[in-house]
Amino acid sequence: MTSKLAYTPLEDIPRIYDAARKGFKTGRARPIAYRKEQLLQLGYMFQENTERFTEALASDLGRPIQETFLLELDPIAGFIKKGYQSVEKWAKPEGIPFDFNFFLAKPKIVKEPKGTVLIIGPFNFPILCTIRPLIGAIAAGCAAVIKPSELIPATSSLFAELIPQYLDSELYKVVNGGVEESTSLLELQWDHILYTGNGNVAKIVAAAAAKHLTPTTLELGGKSPVIIDPKMDLALAARRILWGKVTNAGQICVSPDYVLCPPSAQEELIAGFKAAYKEFYPTPDDMRTSMSRIVAPHHFDRLKKLLDSTSGNIVVGGKSDKADLWIEPTVVKNVKADDVLMQSEIFGPILPIVPMEDLDSAINFINSRDHPLALYVFTNDSQFKSKVVNNTLSGGVVINDVLLQGATADFPIAGVGPSGNGGYGGKAGFDTFTHRRPYMDVPGWLDMLLKPRYAPYTPKKIRAL
Ligand code: NAD
Repeated sequence: MTSKLAYTPLEDIPRIYDAARKGFKTGRARPIAYRKEQLLQLGYMFQENTERFTEALASDLGRPIQETFLLELDPIAGFIKKGYQSVEKWAKPEGIPFDFNFFLAKPKIVKEPKGTVLIIGPFNFPILCTIRPLIGAIAAGCAAVIKPSELIPATSSLFAELIPQYLDSELYKVVNGGVEESTSLLELQWDHILYTGNGNVAKIVAAAAAKHLTPTTLELGGKSPVIIDPKMDLALAARRILWGKVTNAGQICVSPDYVLCPPSAQEELIAGFKAAYKEFYPTPDDMRTSMSRIVAPHHFDRLKKLLDSTSGNIVVGGKSDKADLWIEPTVVKNVKADDVLMQSEIFGPILPIVPMEDLDSAINFINSRDHPLALYVFTNDSQFKSKVVNNTLSGGVVINDVLLQGATADFPIAGVGPSGNGGYGGKAGFDTFTHRRPYMDVPGWLDMLLKPRYAPYTPKKIRAL
């Protein structure tokens, strides 16, 4: 929270863009061997600088070292390895189903890099949400400029220092800065833009991209609900939900945002939250050392205002400390549908419980709002599960746990509707930055068969078609 970020001078941005484009045009990112070498280098960047990344994230987000390993460093190592091992397979041309009319022209789909791409990242998961998309861009053979978040100066400075040292500095570049720098980047014509962040900025990104007809991938957020089946083991549900809510201090796009629970089960669920809270934080010291902080004072103020103005009852936590940007894990019960806590994504360690009479009401409630990025269901009843899954739509769905979809190497990170579109992660990342190009090679001798297509259209030729 003390680091200063050196913003990229605005006048340098067009030059950086031109250099990346020029680098791409050399064609050296085409060979698979080059892409693998760059991915290997990316792996070394994290392996050789582990401590610097944990320190940077501790400085930016007050993140405990264990969380940085669990949430970012361990997964990114696996994702890079996956990209390294799979790029050859992903890049292979694909055949199409046998077509009697055209098989002699050997039709196939070849995978072309889209070109020079822009990746704009958020503050909450700088490695997973900025570097993981870069894995896809490298694997696809693209050049890329990344713009990390200005809210995490230590980590964004580290990217600016290390990426040119480890990767091909002509093709992979970092621009640091805030709105002005992003705006300047967005004025340029990219071959793809991948943006991760909030939906309001996503509209600005999409409008800027539309000026150049540039395709976009938008990774956004929203309010991800949890539905509780009262017959579930509520102590287990509470422990898993609370873990998802306190990890990274609730600043996760797929954090459980609110809980829908029958009124009859609310008190048992709260008892579960209280027990889990005690288990996670036996002493106040554990609380301070095992929890991330809120990224910036304006986000702290936003969350504090929510706590001060909710009409629900705080049953766990509720304390906060602005000097330390710390908010205690807080559970609020009897929250009404129109409460301040239910207006927008909370993105902090506050968990409202909205009593909901039955499953139909819970489903209707979810469907009356934007499609969420994640939907969590706690039940062991297969009919309950399928009723929820078959009657709702969300970016992803997890039964009886939270967050795990983001750690799975082959799942695309993808929203739907206002929670985003497109995706990356595993092969989806490669596909995002790849143009699937239909390819045919038509031999000259095939004119024996193709002749009828040429004028003049005599009756004999028409019969032959
Ligand atoms: P943020 O404030 O770090 O902003 C994200 C990026 O947008 C930054 O790089 C920032 O510089 C840039 N930006 C800000 N204003 C801009 C403007 N006017 N024009 C152009 N660029 C601008 O992070 P945030 O937006 O607060 O991120 C939190 C949101 O991101 C939450 O809604 C969260 O759910 C979502 N998120 C989604 C995913 C996902 O994978 N779907 C992952 C992480 C976060």
